[in-house]
Amino acid sequence: MQDIIDEITSDMLGRHDKGKVASYIPQLACVDPNQFAISVVLPSGEVFNSGCTSTLFSIQSISKVFTLTLALGKLGNAIWKRVGREPSGDPFNSIVQLEHEQGKPRNPFVNAGAIAVADAIMQGHPPKETLAEILQFVRFLANDETIAIDEKVARSELETGSRNASLAHFMASFGHFEHPVDQVLGTYFHHCSIAMNTQQLATAGLFLANNGINPSTGFAVVSAMRAKRINALMLTCGHYDGSGEFAFRVGLPGKSGVGGGILAVAPGKASIAVWSPGLDSVGNSKLGSLALEKLAHRTGWSIFSAD
Ligand code: GLU
Repeated sequence: MQDIIDEITSDMLGRHDKGKVASYIPQLACVDPNQFAISVVLPSGEVFNSGCTSTLFSIQSISKVFTLTLALGKLGNAIWKRVGREPSGDPFNSIVQLEHEQGKPRNPFVNAGAIAVADAIMQGHPPKETLAEILQFVRFLANDETIAIDEKVARSELETGSRNASLAHFMASFGHFEHPVDQVLGTYFHHCSIAMNTQQLATAGLFLANNGINPSTGFAVVSAMRAKRINALMLTCGHYDGSGEFAFRVGLPGKSGVGGGILAVAPGKASIAVWSPGLDSVGNSKLGSLALEKLAHRTGWSIFSAD
C-alpha cells in the first residue's frame, strides 16, 4: 500500500495541469495548488500516508457527510422531509431545481440541501452550540481533539456568500426554515470551514467503511444500515454534477469539497482522504479524483468490481 500511494503521489506532483483553486471564496484562492496528500486508513487501524498529510485544509462540503450523519441521529428518517435523496445533475450552488420542487433540495450534499440540514440540526439551539456539537462530533470521529474551525475561511465565506444566502432565503420563502436565515447560514459557513489534514479526515470516515463502527475507538457511530445508506448517497450525489463521472472512473462512494479534498470509502477495505487544491470545471479536485482513480485501479477496490 505504501508503495502504491508513494507512486501515485510522485505521479500527481509531476503533473502540470493541476486544475484551478476555488476563487469565489477569497481565502481559498490563497492556497498553493502545488500540494498533494493521500491517507489510507484500514479497519485494522493501520494508516498509510504520502505527501503533505499533516497540512490542514478547508474540508468545505466534505463536512456535509458529518452534518448529515448528525441529522440522521437527531431526526432519523424525518430528515427526508427536508431534503431528497436524488442526484441533482446541477452545479453545487444551483437554485433552479428549488423553484420547480417547492424549495425542497434534491439531496443533502448540494449547498441548498446542506443548508436545510444545518437548519434541521440546530433544533432551537444558537449557532455557537450547534457548531460546538458538530466540531465535537468530528473530533470524536477522527479521535483528535485538535480539530478546529478556520475562522478566516468562515469570515471569507460569510462576506462573499450571496449565492448561498439566496438559496437559504428562497427555501425560507416556502416556510421550510425553523431558524432565522442568518443563523442557519452562519452555522453552515462555519462547518464548511473546519480544517483537517488527510489523516484526520480518513480516520473520521472510517466508520463508513466499517459497518458504522469506528474501529479506532470501538464506538458504534451509526447502524450498519445507516452507514450503507450514507455511502449510497455519497456515491450518487457526492460530486455534484460530476457524480456519475466519479462513479464511472473511481467506483467508490466519495464526497468532495471545493477546498480540494475528497473523502472516499471502500466498504470493508479502507477509508481514504486525498487533497489537491486545484479543481476541475465542476468543482471537484482534479488530481484528487485522478489519484483515487489510480488507487481504485491498483487495489481493485471499486464497489463494482467482482474481485
Ligand atoms: N462552503 C462551500 C459553499 O457553500 C461549499 C461548496 C463545496 O465545497 O462544494 O459554496
